[in-house]
Amino acid sequence: MLRLPSFTYRQPRTLAEAVSMKADVGPDGMYVAGGTDLYPNMKRRHQEPRTVISLMGVPELAECGVRNAECGIGPCVTLTAIADHPTIRRDYAAVLLRNMGTLGGNLCLDTRCNYYNQSYEWRKAIDFCMKKDGHICWVAPSSPRCWAVSSSDVAPVMVALGADYVLVGPGGERVVPAARFYHNDGINYLTKQPDEVLAAVRLPAPDGWDAVYHKLRRRGSFDFPVLGVAAWTKWERGAGSGERVVEARIVLGGVASWPQEIPEAGAALAGTDLSDEAIAAAADAAYRPAKPMDNTDFDLSWRKQMTRVYVARALAELRQRRRAAK
Ligand SMILES: Cc1cc2nc3c(=O)[nH]c(=O)nc-3n(C[C@H](O)[C@H](O)[C@H](O)COP(=O)(O)OP(=O)(O)OC[C@H]3O[C@@H](n4cnc5c(N)ncnc54)[C@H](O)[C@@H]3O)c2cc1C
Ligand code: SF4
Repeated sequence: MLRLPSFTYRQPRTLAEAVSMKADVGPDGMYVAGGTDLYPNMKRRHQEPRTVISLMGVPELAECGVRNAECGIGPCVTLTAIADHPTIRRDYAAVLLRNMGTLGGNLCLDTRCNYYNQSYEWRKAIDFCMKKDGHICWVAPSSPRCWAVSSSDVAPVMVALGADYVLVGPGGERVVPAARFYHNDGINYLTKQPDEVLAAVRLPAPDGWDAVYHKLRRRGSFDFPVLGVAAWTKWERGAGSGERVVEARIVLGGVASWPQEIPEAGAALAGTDLSDEAIAAAADAAYRPAKPMDNTDFDLSWRKQMTRVYVARALAELRQRRRAAK
């Protein structure tokens, strides 16, 4: 059985206290929320903080509510509680994901790779890799970067919705769009400073948009996405009859080190009523730049093929929902 290394566990009661504790311990400290990602990583020595600072005792990080028509969600709200929240159930169906763990932990999830998510002994036997303790990338040996994959279900949804993240650190508070919170780099996958806490997530007011999330995975139950497709469309009634898409975003998870927006796919939908032709054009546009690497589950060429299928299915669901709502 893999054991946790010994570490100091701190339980701040306010956000300011949490940030100051982290600043005091420096790079040897890490925040934890539900711990469903961090603790397994510590057992396999992927991450080795000597001090772990729990955010779960900070009341302001566990609030959920609507202000000025925007919905704000605290990062320590569990995904199950989010799924049970009446406003989110009604207006933000794409955010509903029933599993353990918190929203903040999911949005800051470590990137994953078949050569990294292994025990310490397994990784030692291959002389480790660039992401932790080694020098080479086994997926792309001539590459100067790590290609570990963004495997969060909620991150592509937040980018597609155009959510804002509130970050609080020693220098104060700042707000960044979800799309700018992620880097396409398997090691430095977040743009936030290590001391910064993701303190809140702000969802836009539900004014004429709709969104869905479709996920390819091996097991039907709780399992990391091999491919995630978040599709968001904003509708407007045109001069003639019927509604048109005025803006759309397609964001893929599980194919890069960040949630990858495909602007060409969104552009293919603007001005259409999600006709079969528009959906096929968007699915094709998403298929071309999707370049999954050979470091997660399933054959990579099949995963690439599935991009087209899953984007088309997600858009067909959006169209069906829109028609049913009329
Ligand atoms: C068997 C298994 C299956 C899983 N399946 C899925 C799945 O299908 N989809 C999926 O998306 N995930 C999955 N996960 C990953 C994980 O359980 C979830 O993403 C979960 O939501 C992470 O939340 P947490 O609170 O447990 O994170 P933690 O482990 O507490 O934290 C994860 C990371 O985020 C950082 N962090 C946490 N909160 C904050 C904050 N507020 N500010 C700054 N940094 C923060 C931590 O320092 C850590 O680096 C799975 C995990 C396991 C073990
Ligand atoms: S992509 Fe390369 S460097 Fe990154 S975790 Fe995998 S093998 Fe290691």
